[in-house]
Amino acid sequence: MNKKIAVYAGSFDPIHNGHIDIIKRGLKIFDEIIVAILINEEKKYLFSIEERIKLIKKSINNKNLKVETFSGLLVDFMKMKNAKVILRGLRAVSDFEYEFQMALMNHHLNPEIETFFMVPKEEYTYLSSKLVKEVVKFGGDVSSLIPEVVHQALKNKLKF
Ligand code: ADP
Repeated sequence: MNKKIAVYAGSFDPIHNGHIDIIKRGLKIFDEIIVAILINEEKKYLFSIEERIKLIKKSINNKNLKVETFSGLLVDFMKMKNAKVILRGLRAVSDFEYEFQMALMNHHLNPEIETFFMVPKEEYTYLSSKLVKEVVKFGGDVSSLIPEVVHQALKNKLKF
């Protein structure tokens, strides 16, 4: 039987509870989820690829979860992994337009690929890695929004 593999792609700089909510719920639907960290040389990240991988692995421990990196087209990475589903988290209506374009483009590039959208728990709908970093930088409390290991790593990185 073919394994149902979903790919959850993004920058995960760093992983937060919104991501984790989608991954945990996705693991009930798919046989395997590959968290695929996009390597983008042009963008600046707070955490290195290795640090981001480590934080994801320390935050969720499940034998059906793999963490990998990719560059280039997501559809090419998926072909290599024999994955047919792109898993995406939808936060707000503002995410919709971009997500809609991406889903149509990826389907155009490979009609066998489907995009699967999930909505996180309400308390995580406003959460983004960018916002978490900003709040921690100024000493705000985000302890209920990120795993402890991520909180520590952020404090060390931002010397707070
Ligand atoms: P972020 O905006 O947090 O930096 P990423 O680029 O790491 O997000 O996004 C990876 C995936 O996680 C995308 O599908 C994105 O829509 C989803 N995602 C991001 N934040 C949340 C959240 N709070 N709840 C659910 N899904 C999310």
